[in-house]
Amino acid sequence: MDFGGGARTRFRLFPQAPFLHPERPPEIVGISSPPGTIGPGPSDHRLFVIAPVGKPDSYGIAEGPFSTPYLSLPPWRGPILPPVRPGLDGHFDHLPVGSPEFLQAHLFGAIRFVLEVWERYLGGTIQWHFARHFDRLEALIYPPLDNARVGYGYMEAGSHQNDDGTIADYALNFDVIGHEIGHLIIYSLIGVPRGIIEQEDYFGFQESAADTAALIASLHFDSMVDQLLADTRGNLYAMNELNRFAELTTNDQIRMASNSVTMAEFAFGWDDEHDLSEPLTGAIFDLLVDVFQEILVERGLITRQIAEMSDAIRERPDYEPIIQSAFDAAFARRPHRFRDALIETRDYMGVAMAETWKRLSAQFLSYDDVGRMLIAVDGELTGGRYRQEIFECFDWRGIGRIRTGPRLAPPDESSHAYSTRTLEPETAPRLPAMSFQEQALLSKALAGVR
Ligand SMILES: [Zn+2]
Repeated sequence: MDFGGGARTRFRLFPQAPFLHPERPPEIVGISSPPGTIGPGPSDHRLFVIAPVGKPDSYGIAEGPFSTPYLSLPPWRGPILPPVRPGLDGHFDHLPVGSPEFLQAHLFGAIRFVLEVWERYLGGTIQWHFARHFDRLEALIYPPLDNARVGYGYMEAGSHQNDDGTIADYALNFDVIGHEIGHLIIYSLIGVPRGIIEQEDYFGFQESAADTAALIASLHFDSMVDQLLADTRGNLYAMNELNRFAELTTNDQIRMASNSVTMAEFAFGWDDEHDLSEPLTGAIFDLLVDVFQEILVERGLITRQIAEMSDAIRERPDYEPIIQSAFDAAFARRPHRFRDALIETRDYMGVAMAETWKRLSAQFLSYDDVGRMLIAVDGELTGGRYRQEIFECFDWRGIGRIRTGPRLAPPDESSHAYSTRTLEPETAPRLPAMSFQEQALLSKALAGVR
């Protein structure tokens, strides 16, 4: 990634979780802060990374020593592992892969990378939605948690034990970090829902936007773009890295960007917002592919006939070998121009989604609004160059034609919208009082005294 301008601090990031591709080394990226301005932790004016020692619970609703629930929020005041320091040159690319220091630097670098991508598309600084109470994000390495999550003022990156006994750290999983930071970006832009949500689609929208934020951010790794083109030769509907997006260990973030789920599946109701997000994410992924193919056709890189056959691939899977061999030949002739077209597509989608998100509101939000807003934004950005593609991608999913049915089961633990992620100090539910003795024990535990 190079956004130009100014001295940068180097980090090494894995574009995809290393357990998926152990053979691929991390990529060196530059974060737009001059060397010497990112302090130990790492830390800067936006966030700081810590690895707490002896932290009894995740943030959010936690349980006291006698099981009384309480709202646990940053800061962590107990002991931490030594903060990671930059090398003598001010960079963080000297840390050995596999060390605890690398993990901390990777988490910091990945969060800053995602923020930088989206601040560029949004045209300004993303203000944390928790800025009333905390000026910086507390990002924690917290192995007891088998997940990664964000909440009011924090992000926790846990770890997962694979079936073979190996450990996969979420702090090394760029897709997951991008997804979680995506949630924070949406809160910053459209606010945290309060009280009763009027529209069911809000829940699916949050998950879809988080996936989209991560997917577009990951296309800023040079090695990711090269790998994607090498694997597909530009035939993005084919099985590839991008639509096996966020393939990982937890149920929370596994979704296929390239899916064929439509709103018909939710007409009579839904019970999981991750499932409900799929038609919207699918429509946006299809649009990305369509925009890319339009650019390829305009530049004479593929024929209109091949693009049309590709559009019809769901109905005519027998076209696949013809399409792939056409892409193989075209890509071999002019690989650099395919690369330029993909970057241009990525940036169009980034700006279009950023402008769309800015114009949405957390109340009364429907997928139909997202589609209509995207068409309006495309009108402003390009004079309506992709209007037809947007309409077709959303319409194919039934968006705007089929309304989302009611929530069928009460939200459970896995529901992010009702989870600790949206708890704020002012709006937390009333919790029972804690006895003096329990309070005393708890404050000892939170100070890391055992
Ligand atoms: Zn999520």
